[in-house]
Amino acid sequence: MTRQVRLFRPSVGALELEAVRGAFERSWLGLGPKVGEFETAWSRYIRCADSIGVNSATAALHLAVSAFRFRAGAKVLVPAITFASTATAAMYNGLEPVFVDVDPVTLGISLDDLQRKITPDCVAVMPVHYGGHPVPMDRLLEIARAHRLKVIEDSAHCAGGEYQQRKIGTFGDIGCFSFEEKKCMTTGDGGMICSDDVELITPLRATRWVGIDKDTWKRAHSYTDPAELEAQHWYYEIAELGYKYNMNDLAASIGLAQLSRLDEMNARRAAAIGRYLDGIRDLRTIKPLLPYALERSSYWVFGVRTTKRRELITFLKKRGIATGVHYMPLPLHPLWKAHEEPIPVALREWPNLVTLPLFADIEDAEVDYVLEGLRDFDRTL
Ligand SMILES: *Cc1c(COP(=O)(O)O)cnc(C)c1O
Repeated sequence: MTRQVRLFRPSVGALELEAVRGAFERSWLGLGPKVGEFETAWSRYIRCADSIGVNSATAALHLAVSAFRFRAGAKVLVPAITFASTATAAMYNGLEPVFVDVDPVTLGISLDDLQRKITPDCVAVMPVHYGGHPVPMDRLLEIARAHRLKVIEDSAHCAGGEYQQRKIGTFGDIGCFSFEEKKCMTTGDGGMICSDDVELITPLRATRWVGIDKDTWKRAHSYTDPAELEAQHWYYEIAELGYKYNMNDLAASIGLAQLSRLDEMNARRAAAIGRYLDGIRDLRTIKPLLPYALERSSYWVFGVRTTKRRELITFLKKRGIATGVHYMPLPLHPLWKAHEEPIPVALREWPNLVTLPLFADIEDAEVDYVLEGLRDFDRTL
């Protein structure tokens, strides 16, 4: 029997639908009170002082980097294997990414290579918890402090996971999360900027809203309030260049419902990974992508490494099993072809990476079907 197994699938149902219905009933879909409610709930959940909801992690990273007002042309250290947004966030701010090699085991930023690549021009480092596997933030922070680098944690892969009993995304100066539809939890599209330094990120509330320093929904009642006849309710000032990056109430409503299920969804993804790991233990040509440590985890990617990537992807495709590759090293893209920083580990490892189906609602039977494919492939070699 041939099935179709998707690579990613958002886990949304009655609870999310009910939340959307609430937004419809209030007839307030844009930036409104639900965004504030979601921000507060998120801050409480990851245990940080303040969070700001935006329409993507790409926007979150752009604004997070802007908070420091680095001088144009300064350099930002980013891992070679990540999604484009980590590097483009630096470039949107007129800064130059410097690509750091990855750790051969975790595929996260290599702390050894980080130390080699730091120069006096470098102002920040953006670690990415690749696939959801935590970067050793205690050691990274030591290096960052020694070189006065700001730390912007790209936590797009790992909403809810912990490292040393602390939520990932709360170690750096600012942490950014993604609620894109494929990620650990979703609002359709969405992102969050989080920090313990409230003063640092407060100005971003205006820059996510075209630079306007007032929220429309807080002003709305005063438009018609007879007690405020003389108040210039329509007045606002723009002092800073801003962007249309706000989260909206529709997304925030879905986010609140997803947040209430996040731990359970992470646990279900961890259980599926456990099943995969048991199933591939004895294979010769296929090894786990990462040193999965499932306790209190929020892995977004399950994958394998094999020197027969092209053959494996074709083999699984014939059986209706979707696969992916996360990621081709960024300097291999035309946009960054001028970059000549050495990244030998990334270049050696990326041809072996295969992402396999993983999502909260994946069924044991689907995992077993993928495993059967992997075992049959291993046997043919
Ligand atoms: C998905 C992702 C982003 C961007 O997230 P969006 O919400 O889609 O903008 C940024 N960084 C990494 C590492 C990602 O995987």
